[in-house]
Amino acid sequence: MNIILLGPPGAGKGTQSQRLVEKHGMRQLSTGDMLRAAVKAQTPVGIQAKAVMDAGELVSDTIVSALISDELASMGNDVGAIFDGYPRTEAQALMLDEILQQHGRTLAHVIELEVNEDALVERITGRFTCASCGKGYHDKFERPKQEGVCDRCGGTEFKRRPDDNEETVRTRMAEYRAKTAPILPVYEARGIVSRVDGMADIDAVTDSINAILEG
Ligand SMILES: [Zn+2]
Repeated sequence: MNIILLGPPGAGKGTQSQRLVEKHGMRQLSTGDMLRAAVKAQTPVGIQAKAVMDAGELVSDTIVSALISDELASMGNDVGAIFDGYPRTEAQALMLDEILQQHGRTLAHVIELEVNEDALVERITGRFTCASCGKGYHDKFERPKQEGVCDRCGGTEFKRRPDDNEETVRTRMAEYRAKTAPILPVYEARGIVSRVDGMADIDAVTDSINAILEG
């Protein structure tokens, strides 16, 4: 079973991928991670990629394809692949079809974790953590029981990530839409796109994804 998981930052893609890896023994193929690993391991593709990046150029689709191909070759045939952050263009989508075919695989599902942008802004901008123990809180959904005091350690200092602001969240959403817009029609035409409410409870999202995979 090979799938593409789509969703903007904050939709819970990482958490859901992790659960698929644990429950179904799938492997997550993140092109960024694979690239870093190949460069570090100095594989032939890694050496090629490093030369391109050292020259300040973008890694070509051909190099990314070679990375994916190497990774698939290293996996058992019964291990499913979760593609994350790839493909981003129609050309890459078609190239992925070819690579999968070469490895005797097909793409079964494209699952998009849908979010309501305003709700996502509220979810992300409300986050803060205890500066001492790191416990997470939320302005609206999980305030400390005693105002200004951490439930877990009694700390009184809290911090927010600078990225957790409305402008950044909305910019990321726009980037996500621009990136997925070119590839969704390719898969829609094949009838393999499913949408899951990414704003639902984490376990409910997992159940929905499993239902799609088992359906
Ligand atoms: Zn604390």
